Amino acid sequence: MTVPDCIFCKIVRGEVPSRPAISTERTYAFHDINPAAPVHVLVVPREHITDAAGVGPEHGGLLAEMMTTAASVAEAQDIAEKGYRLVFNVGRHALNSVPHLHMHVIGGHHLGWPPG
Ligand code: 5GP
Ligand code: ZN
Repeated sequence: MTVPDCIFCKIVRGEVPSRPAISTERTYAFHDINPAAPVHVLVVPREHITDAAGVGPEHGGLLAEMMTTAASVAEAQDIAEKGYRLVFNVGRHALNSVPHLHMHVIGGHHLGWPPG
């Protein structure tokens, strides 16, 4: 299922342009419009799930595909060896701004920790 007014559903449907990174059957990875690091890619499911708190046991295969897509992104962007960060933001305190599940793949330089 996709949601008509959801920005990431629109990106998945090709109605809003995006810079592709990796495309798989159930996932799509594209470059963040406002990158926080030299590599900043978003991995989304093609189906609409609101956020990580909305993931259930029925999404196990889809989540695994998101993880393998993220690993493929890291290989393709040449950050696999040096390392990178995978992030799901949930809710206001985490500054989640788009209500369609997305995993940030962030890397390309040394990342600080803890994040804040
Ligand atoms: P959140 O804060 O919800 O975890 O992350 C949402 C991310 O989506 C942000 O990093 C933001 O820059 C990115 N973003 C929001 N709208 C668009 C868009 O239309 N295109 C792309 N490529 N990225 C977007
Ligand atoms: Zn959506």
